[in-house]
Amino acid sequence: MNSALPQIPVAKPFLDEEEAEAVRRVILSGWVTQGPEVAAFEQQFADFVDAPHACAVSNCTTALHLALKAVGIGAGDEVITVSHSFIATANAIRYCGAVPVFVDIEVDGFNIDPELIEAAVTPRTKAILCVHQLGMPCDLGRVVEIGRRLSIPVIEDAACASGSEILLEGHWRKIGKPHGDIACFSFHPRKVVTTGDGGMLTTANADYDRKFRLWRQHGMDVTDTVRHGSRQVIYESYPELGYNYRMTDLQAAVGRVQLARLPALVSKRRHLADLYRESLRDIPWLETPAEPAWARSNWQSYCIKLPPWLDQRNTMQALLDRGISTRRGIMNAHREVAYADKASHRVAAKLGHSVAAQEGAIILPLFAQMMEDDVLFVAAALRDLCSDRQAAAG
Ligand SMILES: *Cc1c(COP(=O)(O)O)cnc(C)c1O
Repeated sequence: MNSALPQIPVAKPFLDEEEAEAVRRVILSGWVTQGPEVAAFEQQFADFVDAPHACAVSNCTTALHLALKAVGIGAGDEVITVSHSFIATANAIRYCGAVPVFVDIEVDGFNIDPELIEAAVTPRTKAILCVHQLGMPCDLGRVVEIGRRLSIPVIEDAACASGSEILLEGHWRKIGKPHGDIACFSFHPRKVVTTGDGGMLTTANADYDRKFRLWRQHGMDVTDTVRHGSRQVIYESYPELGYNYRMTDLQAAVGRVQLARLPALVSKRRHLADLYRESLRDIPWLETPAEPAWARSNWQSYCIKLPPWLDQRNTMQALLDRGISTRRGIMNAHREVAYADKASHRVAAKLGHSVAAQEGAIILPLFAQMMEDDVLFVAAALRDLCSDRQAAAG
């Protein structure tokens, strides 16, 4: 094997001359942070998902922090979520001094099992933070129904879910159209559209939106655009503790181009995901991801479950030896040293499916520029590995 990079990476952002040109335009304009490009990107995102408000921030982790703060999460409160997620989901809860309460994921997917939520509720439960993992919508209808009935706010970690859709009340809606209270998105390069780093909060609640805008800029009550455009001297004040969670105009300009590309990127990814499903159909030992009838994933990641006799690490290495880069299943926050302190979280129910998904699933390459032949090549490699192991087992 040569030492070159794998021929097929697991993911790759789609960035082109148009994004480069957009950044150039911003640089030459002289206004480079939280200015007109950010405002335009927010409007475009709000229109795209059909949300009354969209507020841009520095990344999805800061978006989650502000969302939790907005619904009033503070010290000692409990927030029901999954351990089976990128660690930022649980970390954001801890930023508020609150306790992440972990429930398991569904047996046939990678999202929260709504059946487990109610049993995890205590008098200290102040929010449900559900995740649309890998871009696949979770059963939001049921999660929101539980939240409404128990008067518990619902926040969506939609980090991976830009362009994903869900069928609710008879209509296909973009994830981000407010059903829960607040949805949080990421524009990290590992997601379907990227601004380098970046995040967005969508909500129907004007008061939450006002808070996000205050908190993302140090709690300052006058924005730079207002001060800059004023003919009168304005002194700003700082009524609340804030943060620096701003998005730059450089990022937002890239985001506007990316958002215009998003429908095409999603349809290409859906095509490749279909092709994976077709090509892997004849390998009965591999479990390909199911898409519920009420969900349309953007396929931010294509994650398959391996049979017990196919070791995760060996399989990933064997694929890498053939030039195919993969990643293991999604992590579990509660298994990390940062969560070793038992007071840092609570495990509300057995997390068997969460752990099994981390140890027995792998993420296959999927990106918009990927060739159909590459999908077939990956499928053929998996077919070989399975039959080799079957033959070895006799
Ligand atoms: C990527 C990701 C995040 C963090 O997003 P950043 O923009 O990198 O802060 C949070 N939650 C989930 C589920 C993610 O996949």
